[in-house]
Amino acid sequence: MRGAVIHAPGDVRFEERANPAIQAPTDAVIRMSATCVCGSDLWDYRGINPVNGPTPMGHEYVGIVEAVGSDVTTVKPGQFVIGSFFASDNTCEICRAGFQTSCVHREFVGAGGAQAEYLRVPLADGTLVATPDLPSDDLLPSLLAASDVLGTGWFGAVAADVKPGATVAVVGDGAVGLLAVLAARELGAERIIAMSRHESRQKLATHFGATDIVTERGDEGVARVKELTGGLGAQSVIEAVGTQQSMLQAIRSARPGGAVGYVGVAHDVTLPGEELFYSHVRLLGGPAPVRRFLPDLIDRIERGAIDPGRVFDLELPLDQVAEGYRAMDERRAIKTLLRP
Ligand SMILES: [Zn+2]
Repeated sequence: MRGAVIHAPGDVRFEERANPAIQAPTDAVIRMSATCVCGSDLWDYRGINPVNGPTPMGHEYVGIVEAVGSDVTTVKPGQFVIGSFFASDNTCEICRAGFQTSCVHREFVGAGGAQAEYLRVPLADGTLVATPDLPSDDLLPSLLAASDVLGTGWFGAVAADVKPGATVAVVGDGAVGLLAVLAARELGAERIIAMSRHESRQKLATHFGATDIVTERGDEGVARVKELTGGLGAQSVIEAVGTQQSMLQAIRSARPGGAVGYVGVAHDVTLPGEELFYSHVRLLGGPAPVRRFLPDLIDRIERGAIDPGRVFDLELPLDQVAEGYRAMDERRAIKTLLRP
């Protein structure tokens, strides 16, 4: 088969790779229906994460089950499935508490490289969710979004304790931030402040439910959120960037008693303990336990209640994956969908 391999920063190639096979009785192999490039893939592409030799890329996937190991009981060949970037048994205590991305048996599915024609998924019973029927083609982008960016934005909103009637601020206008806006709306937020300075992203944020747009960043952004919330700050803040500035902006935009859900992968973030102590703000974040939300998200997508697939503003054949990276790196695209 063929798949994307990063050789060095800026150097993604679509090349011949070994076909994945069942290695453990709990594995499945899927044939990719669609995959995509993640904002976190850009950390490698930009050389911020080290690239140690040729590495298969991609961790977002939807596809058709091709083969299953002898212990797999909940999915079968021919079914359309969605899974998360971490495989989980979905039975251990941590999974049952809803934190499948910290499963005691977790494995990184992306190690197999999902930007490829086939993918091995470990712990298939605990990781994959099958749709009731084969979905129509127009639902593919939204179902693919559920595999990571929607599930991550959703976790951000849940971790930020978004409740009906709440005032919410979202820091970050990438795919996750935009879908956190959608999640906040679905969870009943009344006022959603999206922080963005890009017109096309502001439009999408508004489509997903943002009621206010703030273009300022850092302390000025915080001041603007306070101005919009009677001087108090938002009850719930979702952080979807992962930098020092965005984390502090999120914490400082929350009111005392409020909560921050942080889902941007943190890079060199150091939090000031004394400021945190006096903030009275709750923090919960980390790699989103997407698996917790998948059945609900799939249901909402199939009912037509949400259209998260709109974050894909570029679609390319899988063999043009390198252009998909370039377009996102140059911010010509929010998110690239790839079809084999
Ligand atoms: Zn587990």
